[in-house]
Amino acid sequence: MPFEPAFMSRLEAFQAELAEVRAPAGWMAFRARWFTDLPWPRRTPEALAAARGDGAPWVVAGRTFRRAPLPDDLTPEARYAYFSALARGFAAMYPHDAPGTGGSAVRHHCPACELFSDEPGDPTCPGCGRPLLAMRLAPPAR
Ligand SMILES: [Zn+2]
Repeated sequence: MPFEPAFMSRLEAFQAELAEVRAPAGWMAFRARWFTDLPWPRRTPEALAAARGDGAPWVVAGRTFRRAPLPDDLTPEARYAYFSALARGFAAMYPHDAPGTGGSAVRHHCPACELFSDEPGDPTCPGCGRPLLAMRLAPPAR
């Protein structure tokens, strides 16, 4: 059974507080308050390999998706909630470096399905219908 982080038992409060995060201090406080049970259990190498599958891309409406299994052994819902929070945290920490800023490459990622595409297109995940999360491919310039 995948691990369920503590924040999942209070997901509504988690998401309400996350929506208020706008600045680095707010993100630091949010992280300290909600991610107290890190590190989470990891998948075994065998489970990770099984999740990776044969590595074949999945082409949907001409757009190529690849699998990118995450090392933590979490439920799809927890993965999605966690990475949504990280995206918000990134926006709070680097307000001038949003994904795509200055022509930077953007990765469109569904942590629930563990799929990503580096091509623009439909903003919803072809696997589950959740919004794809936009991530910067390169770290912010410093
Ligand atoms: Zn998905």
